[in-house]
Amino acid sequence: MKHLFLLSLLSLLVFGCTPTAQTTLSTPAPTTPPPPPAPTAPTYTPFEQMINKKPKNIILMVGDGMGLGQISAGMYMNGNKLSLEEFHYIGLHKCYAADDLITDSAAAATSFACGIKTYNGAIGVDVNKKPVKTILEYAEEKGLATGLVTTSTIVHATPASFIAHQEQRKMYEEIAADFMNTEVDLFIGGGKNYFDKRTDNQNLLDQLRDKGYQVNTFLETELADLSPGEKNLAYLTSNTDPLPVARGRNYLPLASEIACEFMDGRSDKGFFLMIEGAQIDWGGHANDTDYIVTEMADFDKAINKVLEYAKMDGETLVIVTADHETGGFAIQKGSEMGKMEGAFTSDYHTGTMIPVFAYGPGSKAFKGIYENTAIFDKMMEAFGF
Ligand SMILES: [Zn+2]
Repeated sequence: MKHLFLLSLLSLLVFGCTPTAQTTLSTPAPTTPPPPPAPTAPTYTPFEQMINKKPKNIILMVGDGMGLGQISAGMYMNGNKLSLEEFHYIGLHKCYAADDLITDSAAAATSFACGIKTYNGAIGVDVNKKPVKTILEYAEEKGLATGLVTTSTIVHATPASFIAHQEQRKMYEEIAADFMNTEVDLFIGGGKNYFDKRTDNQNLLDQLRDKGYQVNTFLETELADLSPGEKNLAYLTSNTDPLPVARGRNYLPLASEIACEFMDGRSDKGFFLMIEGAQIDWGGHANDTDYIVTEMADFDKAINKVLEYAKMDGETLVIVTADHETGGFAIQKGSEMGKMEGAFTSDYHTGTMIPVFAYGPGSKAFKGIYENTAIFDKMMEAFGF
């Protein structure tokens, strides 16, 4: 009898307690704050959803002097990983100029910008020195937003060839003056002196302000503190050439991010943006492996920022290529992951074919082997111009 009583008491305790225990487990006490919601993963546009569409926006990224050697060295120095590995289609272009198998940046960029082969030194002009309309100018004419970002001066050969028309690349003041003939929505790069310390004493920065631009320079505003508004935006990063990344320049990834955000939705027709990693080339000219890999890493960070934008947007074609290779750079015996032994065959450009990486809508057209001028043709076709 006593046993039976104890047994029933025990079972009452056990079974009586069980539901309470379960309740305690499933419902947190009211004093415990609920756990924060898990951060929502960014929603990327699936490949199938974007690949057969026409792009609304095109971002052309030019790693100046970036051949396969530079890309490989950058990758092995970056934990065997680059953002370039995420691109959908890869091709090769033939980069020679009209007057020389070994191109310079001016002739090569004019091929991308205008779809023509021209002579070394030409900025947006043909072999007869006649101006040829650039894709940036076509885009402007069709009502798209346009932009240029570089780690050289903004009047240097690559950006200049998209916006200016001059017989020689060294005509920096004339190239700066050509910016006044456009309505380019955004430009970020060095070379402030070509705008406001000119031999003709004109102050083109004031003229830009008169045209309705928001103009800022490195002297009074950090790029990170820039608050872009409705106006067209000009930001000058240095008086002359920007520093190498190893000596403190760090604006390209941020500038690329700002440019994507600024351009997005600026025109309902879309945008054309050219972003240049200019100093991979300067590392090649200097036969300096460290210079090449640090600039390559910086450029890849910028590519990553652009890819993040394109993945979310789903309507943006991103093309990454180079104008030419510089230095005849090769990775030598004795190199390891994280340690490059580079060697050079030249302190100038070389004639090797150049890889093209394409992501997003319209990217399929960039597979295969073609002339550098075809990059212009393919971009024009992608835009439907
Ligand atoms: Zn060069």
